[in-house]
Amino acid sequence: MKKHSVFISVFFLIFSLNVQAGSIEKKYPTVDVDLKAVKVSKHVYFVQGKAGIATDNAGFISNAGFVVTNEGVVVFDALGTPSLAVKLYKEIRKVTQQPIRYVIMSHYHADHLYGLQVFKELGAKVIAPQGARVYLASDVSDNLLATRRVDLAPWVNESTHLVPADQYISTEYKFSLGGIQFKITPLGNAHSEGDLTLLVEPDNVLFSGDLIFEGRIPFVGQANIFNWLKALETMRNVNVSAVLPGHGPLAKDPNALINMTYNYLSLLKNTMQTAVENWTPFAEAYAQIDWGDYMFLPAFDAANRMNAYNVFLFMERTNQ
Ligand SMILES: [Zn+2]
Repeated sequence: MKKHSVFISVFFLIFSLNVQAGSIEKKYPTVDVDLKAVKVSKHVYFVQGKAGIATDNAGFISNAGFVVTNEGVVVFDALGTPSLAVKLYKEIRKVTQQPIRYVIMSHYHADHLYGLQVFKELGAKVIAPQGARVYLASDVSDNLLATRRVDLAPWVNESTHLVPADQYISTEYKFSLGGIQFKITPLGNAHSEGDLTLLVEPDNVLFSGDLIFEGRIPFVGQANIFNWLKALETMRNVNVSAVLPGHGPLAKDPNALINMTYNYLSLLKNTMQTAVENWTPFAEAYAQIDWGDYMFLPAFDAANRMNAYNVFLFMERTNQ
């Protein structure tokens, strides 16, 4: 190719990327929340949602992050509305003009998911845990989207849709981009039908998704509490320099963070297991538990009783 035609191709590539980016920004309603990327390590950036329930803070209640390499950007989780994803994209553009190559999804839950269509439109490849297929095939995903179109209007609206992954992961998966090594570890059905973590190897930074909550009560939902606890035990043994959780601030002392989630889940598991074994009715068992360490944390009133009840039902199912 001649020099001037290379120049013209590059010009049109940059021009079309800019048009694409501009149209992405115009396509979605703007959202006025404080979303700023913080640099965590040489290549890793993090945005932190505000602690609260799903509809607080215009849906910005979960975290996300991105990794900048000189061959493109890897995004981790997509936030709870397309408008939030556009804001995240703008933060990325403050740091680099590299294309968005991958979005790695920790799991498919609404608060991390509805922004995905923005990155898909920007040409990213989506990687998710195998269990995301279960979520996508369930009525829960459609029903929740319908509910959020009301609760999170105008940011979640008729054009918001569920985006399937391009690749589903069920065994450890490593890849490299721009000389940076990434390790994806799927953990099976733990917090959700399928969870994974992402380790950015040269920075020794771990994106944990919702296996770890910091500064609020975890959301248990349909979790397999045994697998979740096992996954946390495994993570205790990885000596990372920072953990970026799915909710709450990043941890420079990862074990303290892991322990908070681990202790809370252990309390639920032990008390509900005992209740089921002794045929104690749920309400009675619940009333006897000392929630002292957790009752002043955000989301306690909204989530705790339902968490305990879900674990109670899980124990009844697994006891049979
Ligand atoms: Zn979440």
